[in-house]
Amino acid sequence: MTIIVQKFGGSSLSTTEKIIRIAQKIKKRLTGKNRLAIIVSAMGDTTDHLVDLASQVGNPERGPEMDLLLSTGEMVSASLMAMALQKIGVPSRTFTGREAGIITDATHTKARIRFLKTSRIKETMEKGAVAVVTGFQGVTEDDRITTLGRGGSDLSAVALAKSLHADACEIYTDVPGIFTADPRLEPESRLIPLISYEEALEMASTGATVIQARAVEFGQKHRVPILVKSTFQEGEGTMITEKTKKRTKSLEEPLISAVTGTDQEAKLSIFGVPDRPGIAARIFTAVAAKKINVDMIIQNVSKEGKTDLSFTVPSEDLKNTRQITAKIAREIGAEGIAVDSDIAKISIIGIGMQSHFGVAAKMFSALSQAGINIEMISTSEIKISCVICKKEHRKAVRSLHKAFGLGKT
Ligand code: ASP
Ligand code: MG
Repeated sequence: MTIIVQKFGGSSLSTTEKIIRIAQKIKKRLTGKNRLAIIVSAMGDTTDHLVDLASQVGNPERGPEMDLLLSTGEMVSASLMAMALQKIGVPSRTFTGREAGIITDATHTKARIRFLKTSRIKETMEKGAVAVVTGFQGVTEDDRITTLGRGGSDLSAVALAKSLHADACEIYTDVPGIFTADPRLEPESRLIPLISYEEALEMASTGATVIQARAVEFGQKHRVPILVKSTFQEGEGTMITEKTKKRTKSLEEPLISAVTGTDQEAKLSIFGVPDRPGIAARIFTAVAAKKINVDMIIQNVSKEGKTDLSFTVPSEDLKNTRQITAKIAREIGAEGIAVDSDIAKISIIGIGMQSHFGVAAKMFSALSQAGINIEMISTSEIKISCVICKKEHRKAVRSLHKAFGLGKT
């Protein structure tokens, strides 16, 4: 048995006509020893609409009802996909997250997978039928439906690929793979044929939307190679796997593999924070308790026992974070807080920068030559990020892409 896990994203499933086309593709792949598990996202923008519906009836908490609502989108597409397969003579069986045995913790809307019990899917595949599984959802041990965070169908696919010991895990989307920069911003960008988990993870965490960061993280932890490719266009796609092999053409790896950017983050600053032990811990413990991911943090040198502290969070968490921060600022006697959502974060990513000097300098020079002011900086071994003004987003991506020679040759 050759087990192939294929995941189809919402844009590939936005109409019934596309679902029928995908069913035909699945049928063609189902030859010889091939056995398929198909993971589907919700059709088109369904999940966004569901989120919107929830906000129309009040302020949705991240609770079980929200997850029940969100889980319906994937049920629609799985049912239709199975019907389309049956119509063309392909035996298939649908699985919800619960039926698929995807057991999670109870962190609603951002649940983490605890374990998988995929024996039913295996039985279905052994019989030669296609298992059609709803992406994005799981179930708690006390039987409440959960979802795995936005873009979570990718994670469903990678996790099922691991549990089923799949021979291939293929993520199908509306772009041909992972690019050196977002092709909508940089027409000179190129497809990356092979990329390491580390780089793909940094890319996904800093704005590349092709694949969910958590899915890459899971793939890295459990060594599941992930192929990202276009649903309807021919092409090799991008393989995400262990450290990239040396490219044959050049002796040196390029310094930088990609430039990413996001304008979906916001900056919070707390001014006049008393500079004593325990204050930062207090602020960030409170934020973490709400399951909010803090990204960049900057603390200024203190003057007269007071300091300023700035940090960034995802825009969707701004409202919550602002409330928490304002409360703590009062409690600790800080002078005030400010919020800035008019920012973009630009990053350069590459394993090659580990062993090179001057990468940061080159990045800052390129931005300064483009007349772009840097508000915050953070670095890691394989990434440098800068916060800049939102309106400079595109210009920054293009100038960095050019400065690091990533364009078409
Ligand atoms: N439908 C969910 C979302 O839009 C999950 C997914 O597409 O992966 O976030
Ligand atoms: Mg998606």
